Amino acid sequence: MATARTIVVGAGVVGAATALELAREGHAVTLIDRDEPGAGCSFGNAGSLSAGACVPIALPSMLPEIPRWLRDPLGPFRVRWRYLPRGLPWLLRFLWAMRRGTVQRSAAAIHQMTAGTTEGYRRLLGEAAFTDLVRRAGQLLVFETDHPSASEDVARRLREEFGLRMEPVAAAELRQIEPALAPIFRRGILFPDYAHTTNPQRLTRTLVNALQQAGGSVRRAGVTRIERLGGQVIGVATEAETLAAERVVLAAGIASAGLARGLGLVVPLQAERGYHVVLPAPSVQPRRPVAHVARAFIATPMEQGLRLAGTVEIDSALAPPNPARAEVLATLARRLFPGIESGPPTTWLGNRPSFPDSRPMIGLVPGVAGLAFAFGHGHLGLTGAPFTARLIADLYAERAPGFDPAPYAVTRFRGIA
Ligand SMILES: Cc1cc2nc3c(=O)[nH]c(=O)nc-3n(C[C@H](O)[C@H](O)[C@H](O)COP(=O)(O)OP(=O)(O)OC[C@H]3O[C@@H](n4cnc5c(N)ncnc54)[C@H](O)[C@@H]3O)c2cc1C
Repeated sequence: MATARTIVVGAGVVGAATALELAREGHAVTLIDRDEPGAGCSFGNAGSLSAGACVPIALPSMLPEIPRWLRDPLGPFRVRWRYLPRGLPWLLRFLWAMRRGTVQRSAAAIHQMTAGTTEGYRRLLGEAAFTDLVRRAGQLLVFETDHPSASEDVARRLREEFGLRMEPVAAAELRQIEPALAPIFRRGILFPDYAHTTNPQRLTRTLVNALQQAGGSVRRAGVTRIERLGGQVIGVATEAETLAAERVVLAAGIASAGLARGLGLVVPLQAERGYHVVLPAPSVQPRRPVAHVARAFIATPMEQGLRLAGTVEIDSALAPPNPARAEVLATLARRLFPGIESGPPTTWLGNRPSFPDSRPMIGLVPGVAGLAFAFGHGHLGLTGAPFTARLIADLYAERAPGFDPAPYAVTRFRGIA
């Protein structure tokens, strides 16, 4: 294949995986980031490779919960009052995405994206790095109530429909499989096919190293604009210079919306902010990630210690962190694992780049030849990166991907002609 110059903007997990895939296909790739690779949202996530996941965030069963979200600043899903006027258009689309047909289409699209994640990473990383960074230990969901909520019922039905393997775990068995767990949990569900990485940032950096070994280059610069000439992308402008390219992949996570807007393309991307707390050298570690569904976080055993990551805060990506939300996670760690001790905790805030229908935008941009979008993976960017990389490579190569890419189309919201 001809070595056309290809620029990937954003060295998060999505951009890094895409750049690597393209370099292996013969593209002359430059990966540009204003920061270190993997320092954005890909730094602090829960590390879950949610193989076969299919449940969108917007479910109709959430509706009765909304008044509580608005009142509780420390709840699992928070909308900051003062942000409401700005967040309203996205929130209305989020409500609109709760319609049955959209939930069903999103579930199929999410499942298609997540199903091959573990094998995708094995292929991208190679056997040695894969074994070093990924554990195939499953994931345990735990519940403090005897009876499933309405949202749990919807989630179960979708998972059954898409064939996700689930093993119910009775209260008495929970502590056999996770001995450190508090006796407050009444039931659990094991997802045996889920995997996790023990260090999300190192995973992204390993992809970037592999890119360099495949002949790609990495540049540290802030992209200020994507350049087009008529109907063709011609490069990117950084603070210092303009770099020419025949192809540009925009994979800048939450910042992608601003760069797209510079081209006159408006996309409904919202920061769904999440927090983590890491307890270093913890006195107990679970064997696998444990998800507390009602509190919307996952406790994952990682190289740095026990990481509790999750919750959702609808707010500006630029708003300062709310330390109390991270502190809640530290408190919940003790609820999950009573008596846990550790070194001084560290906290983090990340901006999930989210579309209202929980699907990313992966595709070529009509009217701007050579430009592709690869962003908006929300809660599943780590999981969805290998799929995204493959799809972008197929689209540039004009190869049929073997499935319908329409659910990820960049044209599915108004704003892109
Ligand atoms: C608390 C939490 C837990 C999560 N848990 C999971 C999980 O368990 N499993 C899962 O699959 N997903 C999870 N996610 C979601 C996942 O982390 C994200 O979907 C994913 O990291 C998004 O990757 P990205 O590459 O699109 O964005 P990012 O990682 O944010 O990367 C974007 C990059 O673009 C760069 N950039 C931005 N603007 C510019 C510019 N102008 N010029 C140059 N560079 C620029 C940034 O510096 C950054 O490095 C979680 C997220 C959070 C917040």
